[in-house]
Amino acid sequence: MPSSYSAWSLLRGALSGQRHWPPAWADATLKPRYDVIIVGGGGHGLATAYYLAKNHGVSRVAVIERGWIGGGNTGRNTTIVRSNYLYPESARLYDFSLQLYEGLSQALNFNIMLSQRGLVLLAHSRHDLDAMSRWANAMRMNGIAAEPLTREQVGELAPALDLSPTARLPVLGGFCQRRAGSARHDAVAWGYARAASALGVDIIQNCEVVDFIRESGKVVGVMTRQGSARADRVGIAAAGHSSVLAKLAGFRLPVTSYALQAMVSEPVKPVLDTVVLSPGTGAYVSQSDKGEIVIGAMLDLFPSYAQRGSFAVAQAIIAATLAMFPSFSRLNMLRQWAGIVDVVHDSSPIIGPTPIDNLFINCGWGTGGFKAIPVGGWTLAHVLATGRNHPLAEPFQLERFVTGRLIDEAAASGIAH
Ligand SMILES: Cc1cc2nc3c(=O)[nH]c(=O)nc-3n(C[C@H](O)[C@H](O)[C@H](O)COP(=O)(O)OP(=O)(O)OC[C@H]3O[C@@H](n4cnc5c(N)ncnc54)[C@H](O)[C@@H]3O)c2cc1C
Repeated sequence: MPSSYSAWSLLRGALSGQRHWPPAWADATLKPRYDVIIVGGGGHGLATAYYLAKNHGVSRVAVIERGWIGGGNTGRNTTIVRSNYLYPESARLYDFSLQLYEGLSQALNFNIMLSQRGLVLLAHSRHDLDAMSRWANAMRMNGIAAEPLTREQVGELAPALDLSPTARLPVLGGFCQRRAGSARHDAVAWGYARAASALGVDIIQNCEVVDFIRESGKVVGVMTRQGSARADRVGIAAAGHSSVLAKLAGFRLPVTSYALQAMVSEPVKPVLDTVVLSPGTGAYVSQSDKGEIVIGAMLDLFPSYAQRGSFAVAQAIIAATLAMFPSFSRLNMLRQWAGIVDVVHDSSPIIGPTPIDNLFINCGWGTGGFKAIPVGGWTLAHVLATGRNHPLAEPFQLERFVTGRLIDEAAASGIAH
């Protein structure tokens, strides 16, 4: 059981050189039998394990991760959290997630560094303005606050933007979700891991799942590089590798995997106190607590498992960023990286049962699943524990690709997919 993090324990630790801290989570070895096995130790897998134990009292749970926890997209994203979606089903889902984020540091006793500095979406044309007033109105009708902004109001929130009428990307206005912002991605993974481990969950790293054990058409366990383990139910939360695992289990997913890239500059003094997103170009920019300018891109134009990100996209995104923030041209770039994201045709997730008995899945978050980690874990845990879909997840079933009841969030998912 890890010590609780508090001002008092810090003070006590100071007297002993801060040497009393135990590891935040226990590194477990695979046991032969569990109630639930979760494949994938990203944020969604770890949150699922935590809520299984916390909300449903299911603690014979293993999270099996082929690398290190949070080493997939959870540790590669640009940390933006928001709930500015178009359709009521998505608004309910993502806003519940944001509400969970708002209380997560307390719930996990781990500072996830949530910073609700707001998200400003830029309109570069009359067409963008029209689309954004529809978008902001849809949010309000779903009970989520959204503020239309004039060009001057945009300038007050992001003074470093080039607002001149002759700018390459002129800013005509936009809108803002004030409750949006960022949270520290590693902290979200580590906070869930620590809290889950304290509740008895086994976290097993460097352990790739290579196959599923099937009996009479049901999944009854997994085969891994460290041996096999059986379970009553198995959940997959493997993001860009979901369709690889689905193929192993014997079904197909409507998921295509693409590289999504981001980059950061050297740290500079505070210059940008909000998140700026330009849906027209796919570029979005924020400043991290360390001072780095964080630039996120759109998807590569072709499916791939190569975790690099194409040069053409990097070039386009830097050009768009510099057109919006000319002063950033003086910055040196520090790092560029990519993750493999799981894109579904309607840009909405899949959370629930698969065609194989006892096997459940959480995937399809594409470019925007960091913000959904709390709700993804909450709803997958619910279906794994009870066998019934959580009401929030009901519209997001795999069967919508048979019935045609798609939830097309391509416009509001933020990036061009
Ligand atoms: C560059 C970039 C920027 C992004 N920016 C944002 C953002 O600002 N806001 C936002 O909301 N979202 C963002 N996202 C998307 C977000 O990061 C993902 O949707 C989210 O992290 C998915 O979480 P996850 O737990 O499902 O997946 P992951 O964190 O990828 O975890 C899946 C895990 O499964 C493991 N795995 C795969 N196969 C196996 C196997 N066979 N056996 C065992 N383990 C396996 C992987 O190693 C991985 O650790 C971004 C993504 C990228 C790449």
